[in-house]
Amino acid sequence: RSKRRGRGQITVYSREIAQEMKQATQLEQALRTAVIADAVDVHFQPIVRLGDGAVLGFEALARWIDPDLGFVSPSVFVPLAEERGFIDALSETLLRKAAEAALSWPSDLFLSFNLSSAQLMDPGTADAILSTLARVDLDPRRLELEITETAVMTSADTAHRIITDLRAKGVKIALDDFGTGQSSLGRLRDFTFDKVKIDRAFVSRITTDRASEHIVKAIIAMCEGLDLQVVAEGIEEYADAEKLKALGCPMGQGYYYGKPMTGAATHRYLQEHRPALMVEGA
Ligand code: C2E
Ligand code: MG
Ligand code: MG
Ligand code: MG
Repeated sequence: RSKRRGRGQITVYSREIAQEMKQATQLEQALRTAVIADAVDVHFQPIVRLGDGAVLGFEALARWIDPDLGFVSPSVFVPLAEERGFIDALSETLLRKAAEAALSWPSDLFLSFNLSSAQLMDPGTADAILSTLARVDLDPRRLELEITETAVMTSADTAHRIITDLRAKGVKIALDDFGTGQSSLGRLRDFTFDKVKIDRAFVSRITTDRASEHIVKAIIAMCEGLDLQVVAEGIEEYADAEKLKALGCPMGQGYYYGKPMTGAATHRYLQEHRPALMVEGA
């Protein structure tokens, strides 16, 4: 009897898997169409100086609303494009749009852009990024690329070369989601980064969990010692911001300071958060 039930379960599971595969293929088709139609968008989330809330730059975040499927999260469609081998086309479109938006900001503001792990395994990535910047005419020194520890460690030699080539042109490299990936602190020493972004998982608990507070404190101290810039991600509350300031964290990002917004909305945001600069530019 149990054997039968076992077999039945296998049938149920394989149907579910088949269903999931069908959905993934539908999603893939819709995403490919959207990339070709230039229908995948970018939004921008401010990164601020915690001391006075001044905007220092924006992180580009991919946004896609399919006419049939509705809103699809980038944490679903970016991995899908990686698996199905068209992350290059998707990323190129996103970087072009993001760089075009960055051109309309004051020139001391940076653009932060997420690189996927598959791109760090592809030796053509540095050239592809630099040629997109050249086409849009955005100074590479205004670009920061966010990469994760795990991505760097997966294909260390290729990743190292890409990072070195890009840094030679003035592009900065930020370690995203720091503290959650698979890396040892020792291996981090082998790479040259400019910035560390402390993962939201620690930041969101900073006022309620002593361990998270100590971890954040230690990361800030380590970054100071290594001459790395440091940003706290996922600041949602006034109390989080105050705590981070007290710990000496120089920069932050999160819903408390601003949610991801359209390119047009960045101009309104800049008017409100950089009044001195807007007067200067007028
Ligand atoms: P990420 O790079 O770590 O981006 C931060 C995520 O946290 C974003 O989610 C952002 O909207 C969200 N976030 C920001 N502040 C807060 C906050 O205060 N509270 C909470 N709860 N969330 C906050 P999003 O936009 O859904 O993106 C998810 C992930 O998808 C990103 O994580 C990144 O890994 C990936 N992604 C997004 N856009 C791109 C892209 O253009 N290229 C690549 N390769 N990956 C992207
Ligand atoms: Mg990021
Ligand atoms: Mg992050
Ligand atoms: Mg993340």
